This record gives sequence, structure tokens and C-alpha cells, in this order.
Amino acid sequence: MSLLQVRKLEAFYGASQALFGVDLEIAEGELVALMGRNGMGKTTTVRAITRMLRTTRGEIRFAGQDVSVLPSFRAARLGIGLAPEGRRCFANLSVSENLMASARSGPWDIGKATELFPRLGERMTQNAATLSGGEQQMLAIARALLTNPRLLILDEATEGLAPVVRHEIWAAIARLKQGGQSILVIDKAFSELRAVADRCVILARGETAWTGTPAGLTRDVETEFLGV
Ligand code: ATP
Repeated sequence: MSLLQVRKLEAFYGASQALFGVDLEIAEGELVALMGRNGMGKTTTVRAITRMLRTTRGEIRFAGQDVSVLPSFRAARLGIGLAPEGRRCFANLSVSENLMASARSGPWDIGKATELFPRLGERMTQNAATLSGGEQQMLAIARALLTNPRLLILDEATEGLAPVVRHEIWAAIARLKQGGQSILVIDKAFSELRAVADRCVILARGETAWTGTPAGLTRDVETEFLGV
């Protein structure tokens, strides 16, 4: 059975429709890459799944439950953990306070998170606002992990980061996958996504336009849907 099942998802910002039929499934332990050119609806899909955007139609089922009727805190409690685009850490709280604020019981704790991202361990008392972009992204991922999610969603996992930090984040994502974590990841680094993904879902104009394995992501598909 799928952990997440999204069917015919439509979403609206006021009177403006942004999603017109997104289909997306994630099995337990699977890493799915959500791809598409700018403005095609990736973040809106994430906002609909996490219920930050509630004006939606269509089916969103998570772990067998209908998420489409829930507020965002209930979706989070079901086990959907998000490291959002733009990171959104609590700027005036320290690293450890940021982590403690999101912690829920389960296998992920601060010790395990700092094992994944040793740099965070060295900066526990530092204010989040003073972290580098890469460290803030590590904090955002660690925070999402501390909710002990069944599904981890990473929106723009490495956007705007220096190559060395991007490498660290991709290595951490690969480790999480090896550990059996179910993951939905959005990023513009297509070759890294292809290397780590079990499946790719491409959105075009607010709809699912293509789904397949990274091996099926041919030059033609890339040219048509990703503008590579
Ligand atoms: P990007 O790669 O640039 O982040 P995306 O694929 O994540 O793009 P979305 O941000 O989901 O795309 O945008 C999908 C559509 O919804 C776009 O047409 C965008 O202009 C619109 N949209 C996004 N956020 C809002 C908002 N807050 N109000 C109105 N329209 C919005």
C-alpha cells in the first residue's frame, strides 16, 4: 500500500487555480523526486499535502487516512515532516532550541540529527539567524527529522547553497534513504536527483505530466518537460 496517495489534486489561491490534476504516489521507503520547471506547481503540491494550503480538491491519503480534511498540525502529527522552501527556522532561537521546539518522540533525537549533520552539533548554542545558508538548511532538515516523520518532504533541498554544502546534503539524503526513510524531494539539481531517486514525477502547468524511473528520464523527456 502507498504511504502517500495523491489523485486528481487541484489547488487554488483565492480565485486563481494553481493545480489542475496532480497524481503522486510514494511507497514506504521510497524516494520520489518531484520535478518541473519554475512555477509548475511543485511547492503548491507540497503545501496542499501538508495542508498549509487548504483550498484543494481531489484525493490526498496518507497512511490510509484522508488528509484533505485536516488542518496542517494534524497532518504533521500523522507523520508528514517538511523542510520548507526558504528553510524558515526560528531566527532568534538557538540551534538546540530550534530542534527541541519540533521534537516528538521516536528514533530521531538531537544526538542522531547531529550525527547526520556534525556541523550542527558544533553550533548548538548559536542563534539560527547567524548560521550560513547551508547550516540553516541542515537545521531545517534536522528539525523535520526530529518530528519523527513517516514521510520527509524537502522543498528545494540544496537551492542557493555552495557546492561543498550541497554535496553534504545529498550525502545525508542518500543516508536517510538507506535507513529506509520515505522521502519526497524537490530540487533543481537534476543529476543528483536522478542518482538518488527511485522514481521521478514531473509536473507541467499544474498537472502530472510524466512519471517514471530515473532511467526512463530520457533526453527527450528532459527537453520537453524540464527545459534541460
Ligand atoms: P518554483 O520552482 O519556481 O518554486 P513551483 O513549481 O514550486 O515553482 P509553485 O510555487 O507551486 O511552483 O507555483 C505554481 C503556480 O501557483 C504559479 O503560477 C504561481 O504563480 C502560483 N502561486 C504560487 N504561490 C502563490 C500565491 N501565494 N498566490 C497566488 N498564486 C501563487
